[in-house]
Amino acid sequence: MQFKNTLEFAQSLDKHDALKGYRQKFNYPQVNGKDVIYFTGNSLGLQPKIATDYVDDVMKDWAQLAVEGHFYAEKPWWDYHERLAKPLAKVVGAKPEEVSVMNTLTVNLHFLLVSFYRPNKKRFKILCEEKAFPSDQYLLQSQVRFHGLDPKDAIVEVKKRDGEHFWRTEDVLAKIDEVGDELALVLIGGVNYYNGQVFEMEKITAAGKKAGAFVGWDLAHAVGNVALHLHDWNVDFAAWCSYKYMNSGPGNASGIFVNEKYLNTKAIPRFEGWWGNKKETRFLMEPEFDPIATADAWQVSNPPVLSLAPYLASLQLFEEVGMDALLNKQKTLTAYLEFILNEVDKQVESTFEIITPEARGCQLSVFLHGEGRAIFDYLMEEGVITDWREPNVIRLAPTPFYCSYEDMFRFGEILKRGLQR
Ligand SMILES: *Cc1c(COP(=O)(O)O)cnc(C)c1O
Repeated sequence: MQFKNTLEFAQSLDKHDALKGYRQKFNYPQVNGKDVIYFTGNSLGLQPKIATDYVDDVMKDWAQLAVEGHFYAEKPWWDYHERLAKPLAKVVGAKPEEVSVMNTLTVNLHFLLVSFYRPNKKRFKILCEEKAFPSDQYLLQSQVRFHGLDPKDAIVEVKKRDGEHFWRTEDVLAKIDEVGDELALVLIGGVNYYNGQVFEMEKITAAGKKAGAFVGWDLAHAVGNVALHLHDWNVDFAAWCSYKYMNSGPGNASGIFVNEKYLNTKAIPRFEGWWGNKKETRFLMEPEFDPIATADAWQVSNPPVLSLAPYLASLQLFEEVGMDALLNKQKTLTAYLEFILNEVDKQVESTFEIITPEARGCQLSVFLHGEGRAIFDYLMEEGVITDWREPNVIRLAPTPFYCSYEDMFRFGEILKRGLQR
């Protein structure tokens, strides 16, 4: 498609947008009396309007039924989380029994490492990307230390090449090869939070498995943003938060994926609690743990129903739209934003550079030469919500659910004015 940097062109794209009706289904913050242009769905997704109804339903059931709500609410609480597994399984390319919802992301990764990082004398190394999201770095370092090892020996980072802003798959594969039979675990962010790069998850998973390691993915920036086929890719485990592209609300519950080959087996240890026990025998309060034959076996506590309610509301929208339609719009919308940025770059003296590689979801990370922070503040004042990362990067995530082509055009005009000042 031949893009044009005009309002008419942007509006004509919106007119033919299969998802155009979904913009009204979200609440927007206001700046100067107008809806903001929201580029931070990669940090906290907007609130779906139906989320309030779902939360109110639980509040009403609690008021009217109290403890009976566990079994007699319209959506009973004791298995509320099961309603999320099926739509989520479609989003991540899994079987519903491979998916569960519980806790928060870093907590779940710790729990999953109980199962999938069990180092021995020979096999003890973890491979990850350099400068992983800080929580992931702390997670890996503390896990390694917990096992009496030194992070300096046990954590192997794949580096970017000098002068490049992205990781090369060949370098990841070479590193896996190099670590060889010392490799216990590969754990990488499927989409990097900083440069927006999508890792070649299928290839890297295959290589890690071939080396005899477990392979897991942190999908915080991938879920709801890029195509995932966790089951077909033979991934061992994965976890993600839901408040970014999944629009579930601040700090909300995390999802996990456990490959079906580890379900219903005693070969893999885990930390257990009563909600991982089979439903039929749970309330017999027997001393012996009788695990559910699904990823729910990793559930420890009874689910936080009030938080799951807005997550379920959001999943209803994903269910209606489907990942294919979302990904279709995302490709065009992001390409349009890239085009607009390049147009602005031609019109003002070149002051920035897109560091996101071609393998991307909806995020474009823009490195600003010079006064980056001032531009970020100016954009905020103009009602353009972006996100600032040191040393000089603005991240723009035009999420297909609720961003329009017109937003991209208007953003370009605002940015141009700011840079010309
Ligand atoms: C957002 C994000 C997290 C957040 O972790 P929480 O436990 O939900 O606070 C962790 N890892 C990555 C890669 C992220 O992008």
